[in-house]
Amino acid sequence: MHAKEEKTLIVIKPDGIQRSLIGEIIQRYERIGLKLMGLKMLIPNADFVEKHYTLDPTWLQKTGEKTIASYKKRDLEPPSNDPLVISQKILDGLKKYMVAGPVIAMVWQGAHAVEIVRKVTGGTEPLSSDVGTIRGDFVLDSYQMADRDGRSVRNLIHASGSVEEAEMEIAHWFSKEELLAYKVVQEKILYDVNLDGLGE
Ligand code: ADP
Repeated sequence: MHAKEEKTLIVIKPDGIQRSLIGEIIQRYERIGLKLMGLKMLIPNADFVEKHYTLDPTWLQKTGEKTIASYKKRDLEPPSNDPLVISQKILDGLKKYMVAGPVIAMVWQGAHAVEIVRKVTGGTEPLSSDVGTIRGDFVLDSYQMADRDGRSVRNLIHASGSVEEAEMEIAHWFSKEELLAYKVVQEKILYDVNLDGLGE
């Protein structure tokens, strides 16, 4: 596979839709030069959400560890020192958050799609995600506040974490027929080796 064929899954979560950020979010990915291969709006159910987050068998461990590390970085005591206890609560929260209203699932394709999309999306926790990223610019949640209130961190978007994860997630959300292969004219300026024929 050529690098320009890499694909990633993005889901605008219920808060992204409620905050009227659909256009803003899509524009961020579109203007980079990525190509939209498929899009659908739906309300997922809790089983579908659980399956999505556990497609990667290491997700529970990694997500718990990430939360503990973030608490420790701020010299705060995490809600538990057992990553699996933390991540089970996170999963329970996600099964309420992600089914609260419509979401928009999309597949975007382009060079380094997974990494570029994560960069533009920003870190998981809006409090510490960089300025200029979507999560940094448009929302203000924190692990501490979400955990205190026993709910998911509201961060507008899901974006695949790796190429392998993207492959599994895309197959979970889309059938092959729902992804359209087509060309856009800007691919020439992004990827062509010989830029001939641009002059008058
Ligand atoms: P990402 O969505 O950036 O890939 P994770 O896979 O680590 O992040 O977590 C999945 C989602 O679970 C996050 O986007 C967020 O909505 C929620 N979440 C993660 N950690 C916590 C936490 N400590 N407390 C509440 N919700 C969390």
